[in-house]
Amino acid sequence: SIEEEVDAPEDLKPRAPIVTVMGHVDHGKTSLLDYVRQENVIAGESGGITQHIGAYGVQLENGQKIAFLDTPGHEAFTAMRARGAQVTDIAIIVIAADDDIMPQTKEAISHAQAASVPIVFAINKIDRPNANPEKIKEGLAAMNLLVEDWGGKIQSHDISAKTGEGVKELLEKVILEAELLELKANPDKLATGTVVEAFLDKGRGYVSTVLVLAGTLKIGDYVLAGTCSGKVKAMQDERGKSVDEAGPSTPISILGLDGAPQAGDKFNVLDDEREAKQIAAKRSQLLREQSVRTQRH
Ligand code: GDP
Repeated sequence: SIEEEVDAPEDLKPRAPIVTVMGHVDHGKTSLLDYVRQENVIAGESGGITQHIGAYGVQLENGQKIAFLDTPGHEAFTAMRARGAQVTDIAIIVIAADDDIMPQTKEAISHAQAASVPIVFAINKIDRPNANPEKIKEGLAAMNLLVEDWGGKIQSHDISAKTGEGVKELLEKVILEAELLELKANPDKLATGTVVEAFLDKGRGYVSTVLVLAGTLKIGDYVLAGTCSGKVKAMQDERGKSVDEAGPSTPISILGLDGAPQAGDKFNVLDDEREAKQIAAKRSQLLREQSVRTQRH
């Protein structure tokens, strides 16, 4: 069945934080995600992250990991939330230091607050001659958001997503914030998680990127995701490397589903292939009936 069991406290192990980057258009969300993606090279492995799979994991020098949702902006965040997926532990809100606190900055702040997701501010573009990070912090203070420099508790760091200045320190602050959350999950059970994106690849069939939230996903597992199901035939990480299993807070691309589930759909692993197919079929039917009803009204 797909009912989730409650974990015994001793089964819970620390897991990496899952981070979403939000902020006003052109303030540097994509640049920050690109910089982190390009610069991060896992110790002992050559080559950075080559695949755009909707999410990626990085490892800091001290070995700590962060999983990034690679879909900047709060549209993805709210679309996922609308489907009942709470997949963000921490929101990085990027604000350009040569601009003001803009409408979408405020929206991003309210989305994070509504979801009770802690915020770390990235005051960006400090390489620009007209950058004024203090003005931004003053603006935040006026909104009752006191950053640490201003005597408050909210983490913020001045960065340049272009030169990379301050990005390492920003990520260290994300880790600090994550430590306060004491994020944990049980890796020793059938996997559950959320779909990040899915598409049909000409050569490979349906490719779905999922974020494992609990348990461990393995090749051969039978997955039910939204209205789709199938046996995991292969898994690939963000470096294009084949892997056999993926634990909590790991983004992973899987092959083998019979369709493309939607971003924000939950996924489960079931013991029983027939049950998974039945549930998927029932969900498709419900969706069809719903769309017929909405068309009539
Ligand atoms: P997004 O819309 O928030 O994803 O913003 P982008 O990452 O696309 O950045 C918008 C523009 O600002 C692009 O032309 C970037 O090259 C530029 N940009 C982003 N970050 C920085 C920065 O730290 N310094 C400078 N000088 N330009 C930046």
